[in-house]
Amino acid sequence: MSKLESIKCSFCEESAITIINYAKLRLCKKHFIEFIQKRVLNTIERYDLIKNNWKVLVAISGGKDSAVMLHILSNLSKQLNFKIIALHINLGIGKYSENAKYNAEKLCNDLSIPLILLDIKNIIGMNLLEIKRKNKRPICSICGLLKRYFINTIAIETKANVVAIGHHMDDLLSYVIKNFILQNINEISKLGPKTETKELFIGRIRPLYEISEKETSLYAFIQNLPRVEESCPYVDESSMEFEIKRFLNNMELRNPNFKIAFARALAKNINFYKKEEEEIKKCIKCGMPTSRDICAFCRLIEKTIGKSINVKNELKEIIEKLKVV
Ligand code: SF4
Ligand code: ZN
Ligand code: ZN
Repeated sequence: MSKLESIKCSFCEESAITIINYAKLRLCKKHFIEFIQKRVLNTIERYDLIKNNWKVLVAISGGKDSAVMLHILSNLSKQLNFKIIALHINLGIGKYSENAKYNAEKLCNDLSIPLILLDIKNIIGMNLLEIKRKNKRPICSICGLLKRYFINTIAIETKANVVAIGHHMDDLLSYVIKNFILQNINEISKLGPKTETKELFIGRIRPLYEISEKETSLYAFIQNLPRVEESCPYVDESSMEFEIKRFLNNMELRNPNFKIAFARALAKNINFYKKEEEEIKKCIKCGMPTSRDICAFCRLIEKTIGKSINVKNELKEIIEKLKVV
């Protein structure tokens, strides 16, 4: 018998499956699920993430974090009266992307949520690996740029009020510390529970802001959510973020509540990190927001395929097919 099987849940007679040290609770499956769902609801209310009647575009990677986010938002959508559209971007990273797409589709099917499936090869004519071969930039930097551009464009085209991203507390706090070490101070201002919509930059929300990585994994496991188990082959486990995550977990062991206290203090002080607003222009090629004349996406595409492309026309077809606007 494992150590936990002999311990009872704090709320019922069932055996506890986990101990939540910072809340001084031992929880069975049912009460753990309720605890996490309640915590996300509190996060939405505490930081005013979603308003009545909103349309929320939920970006799903096919992995556990965004699967957990979508599952919980789907449960809360009736209670809080908001609509959900999911978006999955197929990057074309071999078997990994095939599995990710399969799981994203299965999850949306199970939850009856409309899904926009965007295959970058259909739009750009190349997958991520082919684009990388033509550029010196690191693959994750290209991937991030493409995802940000497509997510924002889809959010505008679907008239979404906000985009929900599946970053959990450990991801966010490790990015914050990394950016502090590198003195990318303005980046920290984007890592709170939300960013506001500014002209054509649609705001982001992070419903898992106060949920840890361990809690996210356990929730996905208990609910048996469709998810790709392996990480993207380009995740670098020797990177600074992973080292910082280990540090944060050690601190949490010594001082339960450390991470949540850090996350809440950051949310309170988030405006402190904002630098003066840059003038936002419209890209002369695609009309999307940029601080230069041509946006980073159009510059990358022109360099890669030697011409610009009209992404909006391509996307309109995909969206119209779904009839979700
Ligand atoms: Fe993209 Fe993979 Fe890099 Fe993540 S690890 S940014 S999915 S290439
Ligand atoms: Zn219980
Ligand atoms: Zn552009």
